[in-house]
Amino acid sequence: MQGQLKELSETINLPSLGEREVLVANASVADNMGNIVYNSSTSPCHSEGSRGYGNTSGIENEALRHLEGNVQGRLVPKEASTLPSALDCLSEFVSKKLLNRKVILFLDYDGTLSPIVDDPDSAFLPEETKVALLKLTQVGIPVAIVSGRARKKIQNFVNIDTLYYAGSHGFDICGPNGYIVPHQVAGEALPVLGKAAEMIEEQIVNKFPGSSIEDNILSKTLHYRRCPPSVVPELERKLDDILQRFPQLHKTYGKCVFEIRPKINWDKGKAVEWLLSELAMDSPDVVPIYIGDDRTDEDAFRVVVERGVAIIVAEDSRYATFANFRLKDPFEVRNFLVKFWASILDIMEKGNNWDKLADGK
Ligand SMILES: [Mg+2]
Repeated sequence: MQGQLKELSETINLPSLGEREVLVANASVADNMGNIVYNSSTSPCHSEGSRGYGNTSGIENEALRHLEGNVQGRLVPKEASTLPSALDCLSEFVSKKLLNRKVILFLDYDGTLSPIVDDPDSAFLPEETKVALLKLTQVGIPVAIVSGRARKKIQNFVNIDTLYYAGSHGFDICGPNGYIVPHQVAGEALPVLGKAAEMIEEQIVNKFPGSSIEDNILSKTLHYRRCPPSVVPELERKLDDILQRFPQLHKTYGKCVFEIRPKINWDKGKAVEWLLSELAMDSPDVVPIYIGDDRTDEDAFRVVVERGVAIIVAEDSRYATFANFRLKDPFEVRNFLVKFWASILDIMEKGNNWDKLADGK
């Protein structure tokens, strides 16, 4: 098996399994990661690291933390433009590399399956994408949605009973039709989150037109996409003042959002590890595929890239990421899912041994 995995890695530039040095270091990318993050977008909302206003101290901290983790884990981020297109590589990948292996598909929602929109309550799933997800589950591929949104909200958006759903950045997980016991961490943080949300509503949302707070149950999301960029530094200072009163909580960054989350060592990467373990798919013969577009997805990329396929959705080619493949936008994600399903179907029609690959459930 190790030989097969090594061959897999070498042929499609997947990381060498069994080693921590999984991505080829690009020193210029690593050295300039801060600049990549800060300057990578013409829109303040297209890269959460570059928020399009003057105060970059928070961004620097995030970038340094990211880089530090990278050094510790010997993972090195790469510029999105250097990554091969997941669409271009798909046919060969499926037909030659996935046979006799199990596959599990993890997907972020906003900016990955659904295009980013101004009104977060209108981030509907395109019908073609929904059909593709449904068809993938019908051929036996386990599919999990991993989102910062509340699990029930994502379930309503997607509305497919046969998927796994990890909401609130993986704090809240459940399986299809009660297949696994719903998983929830950080429940004790609910009262504190509620108090913080009340103060954010009073002191920020009521005073900064265009801002809004979204209740993701085990996390809160402060949206500022519709605020003038000039007011965002003040908005963030207000948020920091509020959070000083709640040492159990911390702030993270997203695309034109601040996330308020419990200080618990839990993230999308942990959620992916938990699901792989729960589904008995935490073994070398399983190829996990994770597709996401945001900084919070990098935690999952770091888990997946060592053994599978991590796909960043990024229009900005200078975006620094731990992923090993790239798609440009949710439309390419839809095309990828459709093509992935068609490739599997083709294999099945030719009578190849797909059952081992698909028996992840
Ligand atoms: Mg996203």
